[in-house]
Amino acid sequence: MKAEIISTGTELLLGQITDTNSPYLASELPLLGIDLYWITHVGDNQKRIVEVLQRAWGRSDIIIVTGGLGPTEGDITRESIADMLGEKMKVDPELVENLRSLFRKLGIEMPQRNIKQANLIPSACAIPNTQGTAPGWWVEREGKIIIALPGPPRELQRMWEKEVKPKLSRKLSGEVIISRIIKTAGIPEAKVDEMVSPLCSSTNPTLALYAKFDGIHLRLTAKAAQKAKAEEMIAAAELRLKSILGDAIWGYDNDILESLVGDMLREKKLTLATMESCTGGLLASTITDVPGSSDYFKGGLVAYTAEMKIAFDVDAALLARKGTIDPEVAAAMAKTARLRMKADIGIGITGIAGPDAVEGKPVGTVHIAIDAGKRKSSFSATYPPRRADVKRRAVVSALFKLRQLLLKM
Ligand code: AMP
Ligand code: MG
Repeated sequence: MKAEIISTGTELLLGQITDTNSPYLASELPLLGIDLYWITHVGDNQKRIVEVLQRAWGRSDIIIVTGGLGPTEGDITRESIADMLGEKMKVDPELVENLRSLFRKLGIEMPQRNIKQANLIPSACAIPNTQGTAPGWWVEREGKIIIALPGPPRELQRMWEKEVKPKLSRKLSGEVIISRIIKTAGIPEAKVDEMVSPLCSSTNPTLALYAKFDGIHLRLTAKAAQKAKAEEMIAAAELRLKSILGDAIWGYDNDILESLVGDMLREKKLTLATMESCTGGLLASTITDVPGSSDYFKGGLVAYTAEMKIAFDVDAALLARKGTIDPEVAAAMAKTARLRMKADIGIGITGIAGPDAVEGKPVGTVHIAIDAGKRKSSFSATYPPRRADVKRRAVVSALFKLRQLLLKM
């Protein structure tokens, strides 16, 4: 089954809102064994919506349209579907009564405009909406299905979950597609690609690589008649990847680095403190994004100027000799954090987020040090010079380095 999503709304094209409906539906379709081949964004213009619908009708079995089911003149999804199929819309008395009773409950008189939401065409039936006024449309003709869902994500998701998904899965007793994401760090993309190349030629499961800010992700996707079979295929491929990538794998699917590192600290009953310069507290902020992080995170200092670094015990002579952007300074910051906050482990970060070079050192230079008393580790890098990216990458690297150290502890 070939599916296609059409997200309508001029606001999407103007960049005013981000389309979250398509990614939601895209993640749902594989579970029903439906292949999604196209996602289209189109503005609230009937001629163009009809064009897009026509193209979809010619090439897809299932077409899901989102948005444009509201009561205003700009909401033209129903009109466009009717237009494309050459069917006439008629107000359905039962749907009108539903709308009237909805408004009665709200204590308001139904605006005349809302009547258009009670329209149907001969090939359509209404999909109930308990979260809003707009019923969806389920259209079936010539073996093809068009499903029109309301734009507001809450309404769309509920309608999908409660109405559309069960109906679709009854209709299709087809294949199931399952994906597994394997997250790695520390190996460059090209090298990962080379290492896993024996699996890349497989067509089922397929393997795909993505460079993300927290490392290289690998996505395995398997297709089978039953869920259990697809899971078995994924498990076998995953085992092979594990034997190839070993410790470089740090997580799966929805795993988040800061949560995993937090779990390791909690398990080992170790506490952490940070002292940051160029990251301005982003490391502490990221660590504290995790609920329950007070179990292991004692606190973080942001010592932005040299003066503040000295105030928090970084040796003034060292700073005078080396400047602030230096691996030794990062080490002194890590030690200070550990000692001042009586933690087991301290992390220090200093660097230049940009846009201007400092102390003659290039923008993007970052020095990270971890001090766990006897065990220490350090890391330096020069990232591409975009301020926000330098900060974020420094934080991710610090967490990776911490993970590496914790694996040895
Ligand atoms: P509509 O049904 O097109 O009038 O959309 C109503 C509201 O739903 C819009 O104002 C948006 O806030 C939201 N919305 C519509 N389409 C999307 C989409 N593709 N992703 C996320 N939100 C959306
Ligand atoms: Mg709209």
